[in-house]
Amino acid sequence: MSRGINTKCLHLEEEEGRTEHYGAISYPIYQTATYAHPGVGQSTGYDYNRVSNPTRDHLEKILASLEGGTDALAFSSGMAAVTLLMEMFKPGDHIIADADLYGGSIRLFKQINEKNGLKFTSIDCHKEDIRSYITEDTKAIYIETPTNPMMNITDIETTAKIAHDNGLLLVVDNTFMSPYFQNPLALGADIVVHSGTKYLGGHNDTLAGFLVTDRDDVSEKLRFLYKTTGSCLSPFDSYLVLRGIKTLGLRMERAQENALALVDWLKTRKSVKKIIYPGIPGNPGYEIQKKQARGFGAMLTIELESREYALKILEKVRMIKYAESLGGVETLITYPTTQTHADVPKEIREKNGITDSVLRISVGIEDKEDLIAELSKVFDDIEAGR
Ligand SMILES: *Cc1c(COP(=O)(O)O)cnc(C)c1O
Repeated sequence: MSRGINTKCLHLEEEEGRTEHYGAISYPIYQTATYAHPGVGQSTGYDYNRVSNPTRDHLEKILASLEGGTDALAFSSGMAAVTLLMEMFKPGDHIIADADLYGGSIRLFKQINEKNGLKFTSIDCHKEDIRSYITEDTKAIYIETPTNPMMNITDIETTAKIAHDNGLLLVVDNTFMSPYFQNPLALGADIVVHSGTKYLGGHNDTLAGFLVTDRDDVSEKLRFLYKTTGSCLSPFDSYLVLRGIKTLGLRMERAQENALALVDWLKTRKSVKKIIYPGIPGNPGYEIQKKQARGFGAMLTIELESREYALKILEKVRMIKYAESLGGVETLITYPTTQTHADVPKEIREKNGITDSVLRISVGIEDKEDLIAELSKVFDDIEAGR
């Protein structure tokens, strides 16, 4: 019987019963750059850190196990992972990418990969007919679901079928759900991307990124690119992410519970014009989300009555921090217009619904009463002109 996800966050079945590393329960940090060879033509299994490191290997195996992959590669950041992924393609190759992606991914595609000859078409994958954009040069479909920050939900299984009918790779950035709530490979995706900086690390204390696949041909290509380009995760940061993953389930459950409570409270405030959260029945995508994921996560986007109102919230929050990033134990509020999506052209941003009165909240694991108390005070003060 396959083990539950919480157990998989802690234990690697294949390493159980062994007593290497003096039986250390917490996986040791192998802070070394290189490895001595026992003899000519012999190796301990490790030769040089850019290729592999025991601490990082352990983390990669845990991640492969959580995502149901056969291989996972750990990078120094999420963007390092996406950058390496794009090295799989050559000039002239065409990629269909969702229009509402993490701003850094859009910047990479449009300002670096296009310069190097890749072609991108940005479409709303959750509602447009992806098939009609496929050309003979198309090699991949790249999506996030839910998207950042508009929480559009794309049906992974249907998209995987379109990809495979046409010989394309389906890449899913699973950062927002984490493997705790969603496993794209099981739904047919070929490659999963993670910013490990977010829920996997979980503590706003390190950057990390991952690519996970269940295809040997893809893994072989990625491993070649990985050892050649060198954007690997350090041993110490591997340890931090391993430590973060141990509580992934507890954190995801708690953060989601807080997000649901916050949604209920936000509904009572007149200044909130729109709440976008995949867990609201009747919201577009709700049914698909329920079918393909085990939860709704803890990211929510709200539209305030005005830009001024949104900016005042950012100025007045104290315990909740006005900061970029997401997925950590602390609640953070982001202003996509000038932060995560600042480099996305204004027309595209507004077409996607990211107006200057939109805020994105990454709900943390504080006591929900305290989150609501802080926001109540902020909203009341703004409305009273204080
Ligand atoms: C943050 C993020 C990234 C980039 O990851 P970094 O670790 O910041 O480089 C990619 N995709 C999504 C969805 C993200 O939220």
